[in-house]
Amino acid sequence: MLANNLSPDFSTTSLWAECLRKIEKKIGSASYETWFRTTDFNLSSDGAAHIQVPNQFFADFIEQHFTAIIEEILNEMAVEVTSISFVPTQKDWTIIQPLTEELTETQQRKIPKVVREKEQFHPNYQFESFVVGDSNRMAHAASLAVAEAPGKTSFNPLIIYGGTGLGKTHLLQALGHFAQTEGTAERVVYLTSEEFTNQYINYVVNKKDSTSFYKKFSDIDMLIIDDIQFFSGKPGTQKEFFRIFNRLLMDRKQIVLSSDRQPDKIPDMMEHIINRFMGGLITDIQPPNLETRMAIVRKKAEFDGLFLPAEVVQYIAGHITSNIRELEGTLIKLIASSSFTGRDITIEVAKEICGDVISSKDERLSIKFIQQKTAEAFAISVNQLSAHTRKKEIALPRSVAMYLCKKWTKQSLRTIGLEFGGRDYSTVIHSCKKIESQLSENDDLREKIEGIEEMLGDC
Ligand code: ADP
Ligand code: MG
Repeated sequence: MLANNLSPDFSTTSLWAECLRKIEKKIGSASYETWFRTTDFNLSSDGAAHIQVPNQFFADFIEQHFTAIIEEILNEMAVEVTSISFVPTQKDWTIIQPLTEELTETQQRKIPKVVREKEQFHPNYQFESFVVGDSNRMAHAASLAVAEAPGKTSFNPLIIYGGTGLGKTHLLQALGHFAQTEGTAERVVYLTSEEFTNQYINYVVNKKDSTSFYKKFSDIDMLIIDDIQFFSGKPGTQKEFFRIFNRLLMDRKQIVLSSDRQPDKIPDMMEHIINRFMGGLITDIQPPNLETRMAIVRKKAEFDGLFLPAEVVQYIAGHITSNIRELEGTLIKLIASSSFTGRDITIEVAKEICGDVISSKDERLSIKFIQQKTAEAFAISVNQLSAHTRKKEIALPRSVAMYLCKKWTKQSLRTIGLEFGGRDYSTVIHSCKKIESQLSENDDLREKIEGIEEMLGDC
């Protein structure tokens, strides 16, 4: 609903134009150009704001990084909205055919290519902007090899797995983008597993025809599907995916997939699909170490034409450790606020602006909260964690919880010990060491702990 002080002929177009002007001022022109230039806006009568963006990427990214800024600006302009949603205008990938008779051969070749690039690949997600470190070296090298010679390496399918915000989508997009622009593959299709599923359902329900869906994929050179964990528990989609997958492999076409966990750990996934995955290369991305995080912050700042003093780089990279998306979000916040206030980014400014992100996270992560999440993950009660028993099914979760408290809170070992049934601090040290040494050998345990850490990140 538009507030009363807006004249009735203040159309949504000019409203959005004004809003965009303010956004640009806030976030700087580089970010504005990348994320907002092609957006559009719609306000329905019930006050729901719909912001149209080119594709799902933009939707996810803008939602994550800029919702607060948009809300703030709409507020400033006295526009009341009940909700804000981001609507990708590009729902289905299509290879748009130009009116061939009217074009020269070069134009003909160029146009569909440009159209595809625009639809599928985000310009920021390229190999050049990907920082390589120990945590992602193998995944990066394999992606590059596949991009250079799709279908010709033994990395087929290539599957990259790893936690959220660690660069899987970035790599997959870079790979597809490279293959397309360098011409190593003619027809490249990138989509998320949800898009694949939706399109499949759409074909079955509306067109009552899954054959044409199958055909749609049968003559492409590279199929990239992001986040295949969402195929879990969808047998119909899996079956169709398997059919397309086999066909492409048989024709020596390249397949690239990503998953948020090891493929054989995806629940309710057909066994023969998993078996076929084993014929290619499955490689992981780990959380980046401090050095890599610093390199990423430097690179992103450079990209935005921003000079960051070394101590600011160290401060951000040192405090935001869980994933790169968060690192980037903090940096955007810093850039936005500093360009708004016109202040140079000194360590004091960085502490002031990012301090709340960093310390509120620290505060939220209390010993109690970690105990709760750990107990949940091991299906025992919080009280049992503190019980004086050496039973393995209690002792292991207790050690894990202590380890997580030491890693994620600022509490002293003494305090942690106290919170676990009044144990001595040396018991805490011993438990943490035990977990640390098991982490490298015991995959199940490591994954379990990563799962808990992910839940902690959501707090
Ligand atoms: P995932 O798909 O694994 O959840 P993304 O690929 O979306 O993660 O990465 C999250 C953000 O972090 C993206 O903006 C991406 O550009 C950035 N990013 C991730 N890894 C790197 C890297 N190694 N170098 C530069 N940027 C990275
Ligand atoms: Mg992703």
